[in-house]
Amino acid sequence: MISKSSEVYLPNDFKNLSVESLGEEIADKLFAALETNSARSTCIRLNRQKLNSFLTGESELFKDIIHEPVPWCKDAFYLNSHPNFTLDPIFNSGGYYVQDASCMFMEIVWEYIFGKEKVNNLKVLDLCAAPGGKTTLLSSLIHKYSDNESDMPASLLVANEVIGSRALILADNVSKWGDINTVVTNNDPSHFSRLNNFFDLIAVDAPCSGEGMFRKNPAAISEWSLANVNMCAARQKRILKDIWPALNAGGVLIYSTCTFNHYENDDNIRYILDEYDASLLMLDESLYKDTGIIKTSGGGYQFVPGFTNGEGQYFALIRKNGIPTNFNENGAKRSEKNQNKTVSSNFYEEQKGDLIKLYPKCVKQSVDILKKNLRIISSGTAVGVIKGKDFVPHADLALSLYRELANAYLQEKYKFSNICIEISKKEALAYLTKEPLFFNNMPKGYILLTYNGLGIGYIKNIGNRTNNLLPNARRIRMAYE
Ligand code: SAM
Repeated sequence: MISKSSEVYLPNDFKNLSVESLGEEIADKLFAALETNSARSTCIRLNRQKLNSFLTGESELFKDIIHEPVPWCKDAFYLNSHPNFTLDPIFNSGGYYVQDASCMFMEIVWEYIFGKEKVNNLKVLDLCAAPGGKTTLLSSLIHKYSDNESDMPASLLVANEVIGSRALILADNVSKWGDINTVVTNNDPSHFSRLNNFFDLIAVDAPCSGEGMFRKNPAAISEWSLANVNMCAARQKRILKDIWPALNAGGVLIYSTCTFNHYENDDNIRYILDEYDASLLMLDESLYKDTGIIKTSGGGYQFVPGFTNGEGQYFALIRKNGIPTNFNENGAKRSEKNQNKTVSSNFYEEQKGDLIKLYPKCVKQSVDILKKNLRIISSGTAVGVIKGKDFVPHADLALSLYRELANAYLQEKYKFSNICIEISKKEALAYLTKEPLFFNNMPKGYILLTYNGLGIGYIKNIGNRTNNLLPNARRIRMAYE
């Protein structure tokens, strides 16, 4: 049975369950927001490390579209329009991520767990990570709160996605974001039991019945059923049970869904608290005061359209009790801090066939452990390919947060000279759509094209023409003026 309102049909079972989970007053306001299909907001979160390093005059670039800041995430903004992001070279070069505001609550959660202090040597897992919204935010937080923002952090982020095709999308978004500390894996949650006590922080953004997506994706309404809610809740419990051993004692699990019902939210938190030696963490109210975020009876934080400007989302935090133990495998230690500050000594290099990748030295041991235990899709930064005597720069080097550090290393090791030219938006779009490009008075060889300082990609100037080194998978397939 479904009931009709002005535009949207909400199943009666959904309405009843929402009242049961949220209370009548909150549920009524939610239904009003869903049924009138009130405007959804568009949000972007800036890639602060990238923009700080390369882009000047950022406010000029975004000033026409930024409406107001997202109250719970410092570098995020509501937009006053929905621009065509595909045709924005800054978006294509990882200058920002487009994400629903509610999902960005992770920043407040981080600040609650770690304070605003610098924090190093963390091992963080984003278990259900594709397409990479929360991963890119966690990556930014790791950078923001590491000792030295301009240097590579000594922390490691593992972004996992169980579905292979989605893991590839995740890996591409991680490359665009430019992080060198993120490893993308394609594993079932049960595989992480091989990594007992390994992680300090685990985010489980669980697959759910998607009630919070009803405005964004109306098909989610027709797919909704009580049976599906029950199936999701059981799957979530399985995921939580599988991943719990990988969390170190003292570590924190951040559980989130985009639903409103208690089966998938508060009841799963109760399940962990009943099954394991764990404590519920409560945020200081001052952290989310005046935001409209609702505290649930089970100790979670609920975003409800009509109360907060964003879609539905639920967060809860749980600490694993006990004394932290060091993950130990063949004498492996927890990651070391960057010791040496000379250019070449900060990286370790890996060559696989022709491909050369760089990693921060300080995460090597952890990455080795991951390689032994998980299916790695991408790790470190692919910086180039050796072709005969030639060092051919890789597309990901253009997008790296550490492009300049890596260039210095590659100059020293491979005599790779980084030549770069700044291009216009039209030229950047011509490059991204793989139209022929030529520039006068350009030296021969490999050239990095930048737009507002952000790396767009490489070309090879061979004299009378240029070769475009953009991977076909990243080519924009959309006409532009
Ligand atoms: N965290 C992501 C972000 O911010 O962009 C969104 C994640 S989405 C809510 C849930 C993810 O869990 C999906 O990518 C889905 O493929 C994955 N998933 C589906 N079934 C799963 C399972 N049994 N175990 C773990 N992950 C699963």
